[in-house]
Amino acid sequence: MWGKDIGIDLGTVNVLIYVKGEGIVLNEPSVIVIDEETKDIVAVGSEANNMLGKTPGKLRAIKPMKDGVIASFDMVEALLEKFLKQVKIGSKINKPRILICCPSNITEVEKNAIKEVAERTGAKKVFVEEEPKVAAVGAGLDIGKPEGNMVVDIGGGTTDIAVLSLGNIVTSESIKTAGNTFDQNIIDYVKDKYKLLIGEKTAESIKINIGIVKQGKNKEKMKVKGRDLVGGLPKTITITSDEIELALKDSVEKIKIAIKSVLEKTPPELSADIIEKGIVLTGGGALLRNLSEFLQEELKVPVKKADDPLSCVAEGTGVMLEKLSYIDK
Ligand code: ADP
Ligand code: MG
Repeated sequence: MWGKDIGIDLGTVNVLIYVKGEGIVLNEPSVIVIDEETKDIVAVGSEANNMLGKTPGKLRAIKPMKDGVIASFDMVEALLEKFLKQVKIGSKINKPRILICCPSNITEVEKNAIKEVAERTGAKKVFVEEEPKVAAVGAGLDIGKPEGNMVVDIGGGTTDIAVLSLGNIVTSESIKTAGNTFDQNIIDYVKDKYKLLIGEKTAESIKINIGIVKQGKNKEKMKVKGRDLVGGLPKTITITSDEIELALKDSVEKIKIAIKSVLEKTPPELSADIIEKGIVLTGGGALLRNLSEFLQEELKVPVKKADDPLSCVAEGTGVMLEKLSYIDK
């Protein structure tokens, strides 16, 4: 008798857990706060995320999945263990089967390490799937046919671009320009122009609130607080959406170029399918305003956002869990 089947989207910014028959049961930031003296875990998920940039001396906030490669396997294990406990999955007699998603560019060694981490958290059996595949399935694409499908998953640490056919990746590329880069671009811009230091969370909220790829008609404004680099005191400035557009310009361009290079490597028959069906954007970065419109204009290929870019991968594990018994013969 199996325990529950569960799917895990182990993202650089967010971890989502899907339970077969129940749907998404957990959606938390991939952050953990530890006490460096005692090595105790102080907080995980949103609680830990709220402490980012605000932890006193001996507490340290860690993002163990930073940049799409696993920076610290111990921390990933601690994070997963806590999350699985929170959703009360599995017991010693009824262990779950886990389908876990990994970025497409990781090495075989890293893939095995992820597998071992998941196994140690009490899984009966662990399956590792490549993220672009799962994202495509979650976005509702039928990847099993001999037809080209293209997905671009813009997460926190990496943008994963892939062309799929007959259920597998034909061409792909992964670059380290993604949501976190956008935040860093905003931090750098504000520092250069206003001599003001802002934190990661402030930068992210600027991006989400007024971030845009091509200036719309209405210029939006936002008040931003930080620390004055010159005087050292707290200071407030007002920033506009066209400034953010400028700050993000180079990174957006890098993503465009990477997609273009994958298109150029794609076999012609599959290219023809992609021109017809378009490119699907998944991952939180897909929500950056006007990004899909901009890419469509520049690449001359239809580009559409998935319905819910942030939960595509988790939903995709749900679809794949249905077929797990078939794979796990
Ligand atoms: P990962 O899979 O790496 O955990 P996600 O797909 O969960 O990443 O996406 C997280 C990224 O999406 C973060 O960089 C976050 O700031 C960004 N994001 C979330 N919502 C928006 C939005 N509305 N506009 C722009 N970026 C967004
Ligand atoms: Mg992701």
